[in-house]
Amino acid sequence: MTTPSPLPGHPHIAYRDDALCIESLPLADLAREHGTPLYVYSKASMLSALAAYQRGFAGRKVQICYAMKANSSLAVLQLFAQKGCGFDIVSGGELQRVLAAGGDPRKIIFSGVGKTRAEMREALATGIGCFNVESESELDVLSEVAVAMGTRAPISIRVNPNVDPKTHPYISTGLKGNKFGVAHERTLQAYQHAASLPGLQVVGIDFHIGSQITDDTPYLDATDRLLDLVQAIEGAGIPLHHLDFGGGLGINYNGDTPPEADALWAKLLAKLDARGYGDRQFMIEPGRSLVGNAGVCLTEVLYVKPGEQKNFCIVDAAMNDLPRPAMYQAFHAIVPLQAGGNAAAQEQIYDVVGPVCESGDWIGRDRALAVQPGDQLAVLSAGAYCSAMGSNYNTRARPAEVLVDGSASHLIRSRETVTDLFRCEQLVKA
Ligand code: PLP
Repeated sequence: MTTPSPLPGHPHIAYRDDALCIESLPLADLAREHGTPLYVYSKASMLSALAAYQRGFAGRKVQICYAMKANSSLAVLQLFAQKGCGFDIVSGGELQRVLAAGGDPRKIIFSGVGKTRAEMREALATGIGCFNVESESELDVLSEVAVAMGTRAPISIRVNPNVDPKTHPYISTGLKGNKFGVAHERTLQAYQHAASLPGLQVVGIDFHIGSQITDDTPYLDATDRLLDLVQAIEGAGIPLHHLDFGGGLGINYNGDTPPEADALWAKLLAKLDARGYGDRQFMIEPGRSLVGNAGVCLTEVLYVKPGEQKNFCIVDAAMNDLPRPAMYQAFHAIVPLQAGGNAAAQEQIYDVVGPVCESGDWIGRDRALAVQPGDQLAVLSAGAYCSAMGSNYNTRARPAEVLVDGSASHLIRSRETVTDLFRCEQLVKA
């Protein structure tokens, strides 16, 4: 056997004897067993990403709340719950998923700009740890709901620090023009209002400035702004039990070089120590950086279609299965399951596209591939915001999902059937 060579940024994905493997398992075997498109996740990869955060926070009081919107499959939630994680949720549906996966309600924080009264009631009845409130009117509604239930809602206000995270505009969230959080200029006033409301109990403060951040400067700037606010809020007699720094750390999609979680936190903690806040209770909400590079989406080449301007490699995964390229022009590396591709095929430059009837249905552009119909490819970095963002557009059933642990594999989501898609629909009775 040749020495496995892990793919850059993917320590648990490597060619062994020319077969692409995740942990110890050849991906082609999983594609044969479960069909394609197929999501496959590495447990070891998720745990090593979590360990980097845990190392970074060694000796500190921290609650890591996995931002489950990145990948909300029950078995993924179960894994993080078993490792002591809490969860950052953004809907009543996500709350139910966490509970179904065995998560601890007290370790749940509820973010999002549009929580409904019903969602607030459900979260209060469950006893979640904190509502991350995103507007002053939400404070009033949450207080009313809590008073009607004879309780007080633990809250933190999400500050919009107006810091540019230097990422894609659709995933920047901490700029003045974004819908998220309370402007930092109004935050003190909002806390004073919150402290006066009978149904609220102020417990913390938070920010989340965006996603796929590869530079630590925006975090450091946002942290400074947050600490200035903490000083002002506590100076006004409102104590804050915890400080929440959101998520957003990027991953390597295409040679990106984000800081490692432990290196980032060493810098942030040095700042917190210097300003006298190092012994506080911290919260963080990482999503992508815990799961993104743990996942691949396997797909089969259906046709190759040479053209005057473009060659197309038509695969069986589409924008409904893996929406990031269509949504954000995002780059995902695409590699053959057999090292070097198909020896009988000539390498060509292809746009890799799916079967959906949209010109925006592409998975990768201008990729050098040696492929023939029937060959299989892996779309890398597909563990975050891929399956979770999937849809049934074109009445396409969603892929199955498999979790690999060493040489064992577990089917964690069965492939949807088309009848699953009709289940809630009725014909009109004549
Ligand atoms: N926290 C909040 C409030 C978010 O909106 C998000 C993502 O949008 C996250 C955490 C997780 O971000 P990421 O997956 O980039 O770590």
